[in-house]
Amino acid sequence: MENQNPVFIPGPTNIPERLRKAMSVPTWDHRSPEFGRMFVPLLQDLKQPFGTTRGDVAVFTASGTGGWETAITNTLSPGDTVLAARYGMFSHRWIDLCERHGLDVKVIDCGWGEGAPIAAYRDALAADTDHRIKAVLSVHNETATGVRSDVGAVREAMDAADHPAMLFVDGVSSIGSMEFRMDDWGVDMAVAGSQKGFMLATGLAIVAASPKAQAAMETAQLPRCYFDLRDMLAAGGKGSYPYTPAIGLIEGLRESVNMLLAEGLDNVHARHFRIAEGVRRAVAAWGMEVCARHPELNSDTVTAIMVPDGFDSTELVNYANETYGVSFGIGLGQVAGQLFRIGHLGQMSDVMALSGIATAEMAMKDLGYPIELGSGVAAAQEYYRANSAVAQRKT
Ligand code: PLP
Repeated sequence: MENQNPVFIPGPTNIPERLRKAMSVPTWDHRSPEFGRMFVPLLQDLKQPFGTTRGDVAVFTASGTGGWETAITNTLSPGDTVLAARYGMFSHRWIDLCERHGLDVKVIDCGWGEGAPIAAYRDALAADTDHRIKAVLSVHNETATGVRSDVGAVREAMDAADHPAMLFVDGVSSIGSMEFRMDDWGVDMAVAGSQKGFMLATGLAIVAASPKAQAAMETAQLPRCYFDLRDMLAAGGKGSYPYTPAIGLIEGLRESVNMLLAEGLDNVHARHFRIAEGVRRAVAAWGMEVCARHPELNSDTVTAIMVPDGFDSTELVNYANETYGVSFGIGLGQVAGQLFRIGHLGQMSDVMALSGIATAEMAMKDLGYPIELGSGVAAAQEYYRANSAVAQRKT
């Protein structure tokens, strides 16, 4: 039988049937007025998951990495200084991308499992009295370690140092699933991708730029062409595209945003919290620990679980895939072999999460992990029984 199991990797996520259908469209003319009538309101509605009314949203044919490149090439010039913290694989890769573009990156190295280092950001900014730092980079949800950072506190650190740098935030694995407040947090560039909270196939980088970032676009000297936001925003305002759009993905995005807004973003966030909390209860019942060093750092879209000494998490993930046809995320970079990740974002329900927890248990038991079969499932069941959204709607 064809594998019908959901995936539990932290993106690409499961694609709802409704979105699969929406992405499957016959060719239609992207230069027609009809395209504009669909696209202009979509760009408007996309502001909601970003939490912005002041910023403008652009949709590039790319993945999240293209969104990172868009953020920096449109606002910075060769040799500019940026301040970034490294606390996982994705913060590392964004730093690497900046360095390859000739930026001078001041890196604050943190333990993997930590979040954005607020005090270190504040100190570095306060010490930068001649304001050489042009941008502060932060990954809101570090997918490699299951850590959510406090972006509002990063903004407070910048304000406390009275520093004029821009704030760029990677929301690739949070936007559309977890609360993101671009305007309130004073974020100047925010980056998302179609294959995470938007539940679509990979292929779109969705970027929001504040008025301050858009002003920086006019003087930034880093070379850009395909990712030039000036072209994209000018075209988007008229309901068109500077080149051929990925029309199927954009149709899918229209439907995805419809789904998110129909559920209500607060409900979407609450659902992700509830599902994540059930997974965390399961991990505790197994007697295992998450990678996030403090409970307030726990991500609601992905849980990274440390395996006991002497076990190899890559082997576990491969075993679960080959034996039970279920995919979890492996550990990346310096945590390779040490943790596995349960992705629970996008199209996910309590019941789906239970199947992932049960499968992880079976695979661990098969491989001799010291866990009790059913313990994690029972702990999550108790939590979901007490907090079921469906039950709450009926009362
Ligand atoms: N940022 C985060 C937090 C991610 O999780 C990912 C991918 O998983 C990326 C950036 C890179 O995005 P992409 O692989 O879509 O280029």
